[in-house]
Order: sequence, then C-alpha cells, then structure tokens
Amino acid sequence: MSGALAVIGLGPGSPQTLTPEAAAALDRADALYGYGPYLDRVPAKSGQTRHASDNREEGSRAAAALRHAAQGAKVAMVSGGDPGVFAMAAAVCEQIDRGDAAWRSLDVSVVPGVTAMLAVAARVGAPLGHDFCAISLSDNLKPWGVVERRLDAAAGAGFVIALYNPISRARPWQLGKAFERLRQHLPASTPVVFGRAVGRPDEKIGIYSLDAVDPSAADMATLIIIGSPLTRVIERPGRSPLVYTPRFVEGGH
Ligand code: SAH
Repeated sequence: MSGALAVIGLGPGSPQTLTPEAAAALDRADALYGYGPYLDRVPAKSGQTRHASDNREEGSRAAAALRHAAQGAKVAMVSGGDPGVFAMAAAVCEQIDRGDAAWRSLDVSVVPGVTAMLAVAARVGAPLGHDFCAISLSDNLKPWGVVERRLDAAAGAGFVIALYNPISRARPWQLGKAFERLRQHLPASTPVVFGRAVGRPDEKIGIYSLDAVDPSAADMATLIIIGSPLTRVIERPGRSPLVYTPRFVEGGH
C-alpha cells in the first residue's frame, strides 16, 4: 500500500465549521501530526497514533509526517483554519521542494478549511465585501521592513487588510507600530474589527475606529480586519453594528 499525506484544515474552532470532507480525511488517517492544541480538537479514534509538536517546529513536523507517509502510512497533518493560509500546507511543500526525491511520488492532498479572516468577517457583516488582502504581522519569517512596505502598499491602494499573527509575547510592539503606520494612510474613523478565538467558548469580537484602537486588546488568538476608506459601520437599535465594505467603487479609483 502506498502512503499518503493529507494536510487538513480544522476551521477556526467549533466542530460545526469542520467540513465533512475534513472529517472524512481525519477518519481515514493512521497517524495524526500537528501542533498540540489543534490535535486536541480531533476526537480520539482507536488505532490512530498522534504526534504533537510545538508551534515553532513546522519544518521538522512536516518532514516527520512525510517520512512517515513514505513508509506507507496514511498520514494527516492538521492545521487551524485553512492549511494553506500561513500554515502547514506551505511547510509541507517547502520540505517536498528541498527534501527526499521519493517524497515527490507521495499522494499529497490539501483539504481546505474556513480561515480565521472569513470566520471573523462573518461575525460582523461583510468587511471583506470588496478587494482585500491578508498580511501576517509576524516578523519571524520575514524582515519587519517587508511588513511595513506591504502595509503601506495595501492601505495606500485601498485594500481592506486582514492581519494574522498580530501580536505575541515575543512580538509585543509590532501591532502598535502597524496602527501608527496605517493612520498615515487611512481616515481616523476607519473601522477596525478584532475577532478573538472565533468559534471557541472564549470568543470575543470588538469594533473600534483606527484612531481609538488599543493594540493591547489583541493577543495571538486575534485576527484583525482594518477597513478601507469605503468600509462602513451600520449602527442598529438593540443589535451589534454591521461592518461592511460596499461591492462597488465610484469614479476612476
Ligand atoms: N491557518 C490559520 C492561520 C494560522 S496563523 C487560518 O487559516 O486561520 C495564526 C493566526 O490566525 C492567529 O494569530 C490569529 O491571527 C488567526 N486565528 C486563527 N484562529 C483564529 C480564531 N479562531 N479566531 C481569530 N483568529 C484566529
């Protein structure tokens, strides 16, 4: 029997947003690999082995899963959200690109999941209703100067911005700097959405304006959406506001 590696998105948190395709792929696996807290979300199944690893070990985790699949096992690599968004699918491809030539013959598949920015956007309305981009604020894998250039370009071009990995204990100042920079391009009233742990019991949603937003209200489980100059907030009696970006842009820009 030839081995296979499926890289599987678990969605943002709640079992309801795990797709049937992902559930079936998890069920087929002989072995599960992933970051411990993500593996904890997958119900135990007898006969299936689990290989938890730390957050920072994506490369070695991907290589271990590929080695295991090359021995003939059906291996599942789990990721939060979508595995292709700042996550394990690219880590697996990096290892195949530079690793053992035999890994190129493996049956590798990627099973999509609901990524954090879609889950957060859905909670507040339609902030991603028009052109948008996603940026990871982490400078672990790229220089901070690159992050700044991308923020400038995205805000300057009128994109709504979804910020992944906004802050962590090792990266405490970057988010404040990012907001300072974005204030140079965007109106003070630009809506900013914080979505924390969406789909989990400790979920929290906050809607702020760019001039009043407090970076310390975010943590590493938070996804931030920064509106464009066209993004609007609809206040509603007795209900939380709707944040949306209209589908059309008037004029030539
Ligand atoms: N592959 C994941 C993203 C991994 S990067 C996905 O597609 O969602 C990790 C970042 O994702 C976190 O720092 C946070 O910004 C965001 N994130 C992941 N799960 C989240 C959730 N349930 N609620 C809010 N943000 C989340």
